Amino acid sequence: MIFKQLFEPVSSTYTYLLGCEQTGQAVLIDPVVSAIDRDLAVVNELGLTLAYTLDTHIHADHITAALELKKKVGSKIAAPAFDRLPCTDHGIEEDRQFLIGSIEIQPLHTPGHTDGHFSYRLGERVFTGDALLIDGCGRTDFQNGDAPTLYKSVREKLFSLPEDTLVYPGHDYQNRRVSSIAQEKSRNPRLGEQKTLEEFIEIMGKLNLPYPKFIDYAVPGNRRCGICPSHLPEELEKYCQQITESQQG
Ligand code: FE
Repeated sequence: MIFKQLFEPVSSTYTYLLGCEQTGQAVLIDPVVSAIDRDLAVVNELGLTLAYTLDTHIHADHITAALELKKKVGSKIAAPAFDRLPCTDHGIEEDRQFLIGSIEIQPLHTPGHTDGHFSYRLGERVFTGDALLIDGCGRTDFQNGDAPTLYKSVREKLFSLPEDTLVYPGHDYQNRRVSSIAQEKSRNPRLGEQKTLEEFIEIMGKLNLPYPKFIDYAVPGNRRCGICPSHLPEELEKYCQQITESQQG
């Protein structure tokens, strides 16, 4: 399998390119609208055809590239069926394997950051979106987020994967790229093995995070599989403009 971890610097999002060497088919997990040109250049360089885009959840901090990529190269859109988005071509469901060529993706419903959030397991890797970040997790105060639900998703579902499973997060704000289930179990300061549900609820309740600055544009845009609003305040325009440097995570 061909594998690339790509980084989008405006929202610090990781996009993952998975390519099947036998069929040349590829999928992008969580592509960002501002990185379409860069991502397509990578797909082309590798001689791959983008068959699908696959989102982990309805993002609040960036706009998915799903719809624009469909328009540009005809890729199909896969997203959790839970969210009932009319613009998707394939609704992802728990334990219903999703195939791209010979790549077998196992969807795991991991709600708590959002109620429809999915993680995707692929052999020794798991793409955890915002359910589990390196030494952290996504916030639980918007989009039907819920701390006890997230605790359960991480502790019961993700932490039951083999310890050597590599954890590839949806974001990182400190240039970290990959962790493992064993590492997150032992040292995640919010969800590590010593942390009780009560402690986790208290930590999440006291985060005191600012109101997400792009959420009021991103969520409606992403409910339509990635539409940039026509009039953005100047300070938010960068969310819809193509990144210029070819940054790879
Ligand atoms: Fe998110």
